[in-house]
Amino acid sequence: MNNVIKKGTIDCSDCDKLLLDYVVTDEHTNTSKIRVECPYCGGSSFLITIDGPYRICPVDNLVLKNVESSDIQKVILEKV
Ligand SMILES: [Zn+2]
Repeated sequence: MNNVIKKGTIDCSDCDKLLLDYVVTDEHTNTSKIRVECPYCGGSSFLITIDGPYRICPVDNLVLKNVESSDIQKVILEKV
């Protein structure tokens, strides 16, 4: 199964709430830039650069609503 090379968390740059966990599952093969929209305050996280393939997991009380892929992956979360 998947390795876990690195774990991290992303929080909102505006209200500091924890938004999601991520794990990097393989060695560096590509770099992704992601930004997470905050469902609490309408702000967003800082732009996060992740080296390698990764999986994201919203924290408790949040679910993944949509991911818009372009140069920057925009992750949109929703409160349950
Ligand atoms: Zn926020």
